[in-house]
Amino acid sequence: MSTILLVEDEPDLVLGLTDSLEFAGYLVLSVGTVSAAQTLLQKQLPDLCIVDVMLPDRSGLEFCTELRKKNASIPILILTAKSQEQDKLKGFAVGADDYVTKPFSVAELLARVGALLRRSVVVVSDAPKLFSIGDSMIDGNALAIRQKREEHPITLHEYKLLEFLYVRANHAVSRDDILDAAWGTEAFPTPRTIDNFIVRLRKKIEPDPQNPKHILTIYGIGYKLVL
Ligand code: CA
Repeated sequence: MSTILLVEDEPDLVLGLTDSLEFAGYLVLSVGTVSAAQTLLQKQLPDLCIVDVMLPDRSGLEFCTELRKKNASIPILILTAKSQEQDKLKGFAVGADDYVTKPFSVAELLARVGALLRRSVVVVSDAPKLFSIGDSMIDGNALAIRQKREEHPITLHEYKLLEFLYVRANHAVSRDDILDAAWGTEAFPTPRTIDNFIVRLRKKIEPDPQNPKHILTIYGIGYKLVL
């Protein structure tokens, strides 16, 4: 049974989330402040943390920074407010793995929690970097995409691009975010380069590259990965 630390101060949300998470089979530890969360962490390390950004004593983002210094692998999901959209970017900067924006549906939150826990099993043990998209297994060590009957080599940048999309599955990501993540400052490709990479990856992953069902184009934004 996975243990989830919920750091949230809105009583109704705490009750609702605790109920839903317990019903889904998780053990829930809930605290309403950063200091209570830190005290708890000294005694026990949960399998995943759900952290609200706006907490009464300090910012949930500061808590994430400190948690990341202690533990590089524990999955962190942050809860951001609609009016604080930039918090999700700050969240990724301090080591959060995913976010949901309030108000969110319990089903969405549970899906993200499940995905993060499945992923952490793979990611925690530094290698192998393995994850699946549809019928394809992505292998970050061998730099290959495998299906039942085929194997396609991928470049490091293609892998990084896929990994970036995978970590944010079901969220639209902009071409600029992809550029930062997969290329950083080492080179200067244009957003058009991303489009070319996507075309190539679709040929390797999509059963029908002309009608993609995994790597979707989100007009005006960029792309979205559907697993
Ligand atoms: Ca709050």
